[in-house]
Amino acid sequence: MLVDSHCHINFPELAGDLDGVVDRMRGAGVTHALCVSVSLETFPEVLAIAQRFPNIYASVGVHPGHHAGAEPTAERLVELAAHPRVVAIGETGLDYYRETGDLTWQRERFRTHIQAARRCAKPLIIHTRQAAEDTLEILQSEGASEVGGVMHCFTESLPVAERAMAMNFYISFSGILTFKNSRTLQDVAGKVPLKRMLIETDSPYLAPAPYRGKTNEPAYVRRIAEQISRIKQVDFSQVAQATSANFFSVFKVTPDHPPAGSFNPEAGAR
Ligand SMILES: [Zn+2]
Ligand SMILES: [Zn+2]
Repeated sequence: MLVDSHCHINFPELAGDLDGVVDRMRGAGVTHALCVSVSLETFPEVLAIAQRFPNIYASVGVHPGHHAGAEPTAERLVELAAHPRVVAIGETGLDYYRETGDLTWQRERFRTHIQAARRCAKPLIIHTRQAAEDTLEILQSEGASEVGGVMHCFTESLPVAERAMAMNFYISFSGILTFKNSRTLQDVAGKVPLKRMLIETDSPYLAPAPYRGKTNEPAYVRRIAEQISRIKQVDFSQVAQATSANFFSVFKVTPDHPPAGSFNPEAGAR
């Protein structure tokens, strides 16, 4: 059993072939996936996928690199997160690589997501790029450790991973771990304990070797588990078992049943 903890299969590269995507997941032993929201405008697509496929979950959030659409309020996020197929808030965080100038709006939006996550007691999916220090500072000051979550597509140093783990975050590794030039990140993965590790594709981007440059998809998460097995010199089955168990633990879902809680917008809006 393998789980892809972060994918965007609602994006145009994959959305036209969802049955194929899900078939190939099954063929590769990838039993579950989390389809991650990047905007309020596209959240309905994400939710529709999670409603159609019982083994695919949804999150709700607005990506730090998205600025075309509606700005989320904590109330709105909590309301949308009340749907039983929604297991997390995000992706959210800071991206000082993609965005420049006065990024106060990005930090405010990040705080809003953390506040929403605390209100609805759901874990956070964190995106951070060239902004590790501010990301950790905001997680700390907003009390994110109360809900924890995932540092997705992790490319930071071991000390950053350790500080995130101390705030109840898991560290998720993507296809970047399979790239020849990612030696530093491989060393970090060697030191993050399996019991705090997740794996993800971030598809349709970042296809792992040997598919680098092609359209990525959840089935390829197997390559990342294989790479971790090589780096840590442990059995593949051990990596698969641990990362899957971690997924079900952090997102509070059981493999055969929908997540706990029922859809009640009234309760969610409190
Ligand atoms: Zn991201
Ligand atoms: Zn993503």
